[in-house]
Amino acid sequence: MGEQQSSLPVVIIGAGIVGAATGYFLARAGVAVRLLDAAAPASGATGAADGAVSVGSKQPGPMMDMARAGTALYRELAEEGLLRDLFHTRPTFFVAKSASEAEVLTAHAQALRAAGSSVVWLNRDSIARRLPSLCTDAVGVLEVENEGHAVGYSIVSRLIAAAGLRVDRCASVSALAWDRASGHVGGVRIGDQIVAASAVVVAAGGGAGALIDLPDVSRPRRGQQLVTERAPVLNASLPGSVLSASYLLSKKTDGTRSASRGYGVVIDPLQTGQFLIGSTREDGQTNRDNDIEAIAHLAATAREMMPALGGLRIIRCFAGVRTAMCDGLPMVGRLKGIDNLYVAAGFEGDGICLGPLTGKIIANLVQGREPGFDISAFDPNRFAGERIAA
Ligand SMILES: Cc1cc2nc3c(=O)[nH]c(=O)nc-3n(C[C@H](O)[C@H](O)[C@H](O)COP(=O)(O)OP(=O)(O)OC[C@H]3O[C@@H](n4cnc5c(N)ncnc54)[C@H](O)[C@@H]3O)c2cc1C
Repeated sequence: MGEQQSSLPVVIIGAGIVGAATGYFLARAGVAVRLLDAAAPASGATGAADGAVSVGSKQPGPMMDMARAGTALYRELAEEGLLRDLFHTRPTFFVAKSASEAEVLTAHAQALRAAGSSVVWLNRDSIARRLPSLCTDAVGVLEVENEGHAVGYSIVSRLIAAAGLRVDRCASVSALAWDRASGHVGGVRIGDQIVAASAVVVAAGGGAGALIDLPDVSRPRRGQQLVTERAPVLNASLPGSVLSASYLLSKKTDGTRSASRGYGVVIDPLQTGQFLIGSTREDGQTNRDNDIEAIAHLAATAREMMPALGGLRIIRCFAGVRTAMCDGLPMVGRLKGIDNLYVAAGFEGDGICLGPLTGKIIANLVQGREPGFDISAFDPNRFAGERIAA
């Protein structure tokens, strides 16, 4: 931040988990912040997510490494009190139903071990002991230890309250007030007003690309989910979330579009005693509708995985829209050529896990510090001048 602008706030566009976390870490460092949202806090993907804080669900490479650091930060923030009662440690179980799925999971286990995660392979006998409610046709289960769960909108509320921030609601930013020639952004435009800023952080999820002149590098990917009634005894028999091996495959990273639903089942035993069952990955879908076909498919697949679920009522269905980058990696960093413009967006199905860490990283950058984590793979400038999506 330049000396002469330091009395102006840092304007953060977007009060999802990434914007709220950025606001929290900046405010904690004594930096003035103005947090804006086109609607309300957690009204985007953050409010419609499951909440897996998981290293096991990431592809090997920078995402897996960042998820490890992100999970460690959740643990630290829970221990220091900020996220007490909101972050719950638990394992993740990946289920193979065929020899070829078991092969995929075996390779994944190696990658997780190499990244520092602790994993256990369960065979048929140990599956029956560890996961008594699981289907009997699983040929193997990969257990990833020390993972966690956090409800996105609760994290956002806690961060905003702890930082003493007030969110400007219904404040849709139409453009940045920037002058590329001077290499500086002076603020953001809302209607016919300019909100002046010492620095601008674009944490606007699916709205980020348009604001930084990269409208085509990301695309929406809808996820439909359902929640069952409470079933405390069954819930207690499941020590962590259960994912089909095909879930890993549904998290495509090659940038290809798919017309299919991208089903990959996740059964999540919630703290409430309910089960959350997800989800679809529907490219190009921006509406938050549910449809019977998708919900029936998810329910049937979950019942195949855990037969006792078939006796539970579905009490809620909902959908959210992830922001998927064309190369599968989020954008985190400063925009080249503009000294005070930062972006953090494009987290697809991983932003609850990575949100607090990203907020810390961006807060460090805004204050002229080292990010504290290697973000070179997420450099937003890799897209400069490109229109990647077909
Ligand atoms: C079905 C589903 C399941 C998921 N499950 C998981 C999971 O288990 N684990 C996990 O880690 N992640 C999960 N995710 C992904 C996670 O929800 C997202 O990656 C994360 O919430 C992204 O946070 P964000 O702050 O970047 O974006 P958002 O939460 O989308 O927030 C962006 C905000 O910016 C605002 N905005 C946009 N444009 C503008 C503008 N022009 N002016 C002002 N404000 C603007 C929006 O109103 C919005 O509130 C899931 C997502 C979905 C949809």
